[in-house]
Amino acid sequence: MKTTDVLDTNIPPKPTDSASLAIQEALSRIDPVRRPSVAKRAKDVPVKARPGYLRAATGDASPRQAIKAFCSECVCWDRQEVTLCTALACPLFAYRPFVGKRDKHTATAPDTEPLGDG
Ligand code: SF4
Repeated sequence: MKTTDVLDTNIPPKPTDSASLAIQEALSRIDPVRRPSVAKRAKDVPVKARPGYLRAATGDASPRQAIKAFCSECVCWDRQEVTLCTALACPLFAYRPFVGKRDKHTATAPDTEPLGDG
């Protein structure tokens, strides 16, 4: 399959809403080989969390933002579940978002940080 085939079939030609425009803009900045996968995934991400996902997928996120996107996706974009994560051996456990610095190594109550912000 040629790269142009992927582009022609996997990017909506004329997005009209702001969410589709944001996806289209992000897709234009990444490797064409990744575009179909990222486009499909982005559509499954809740709108509120999508900017963070797209920043991470395009390489524009900070490491903290990328971890936030990864942990959020890991638990189906439910921030409460990130705070309740029981995967104590996960390499990201101590870095997971939505918990205070004091509680990075233990279970904790959720904080009030919005899901979509970095
Ligand atoms: S720390 Fe928990 S929520 Fe984050 S990636 Fe690991 S298992 Fe998933």
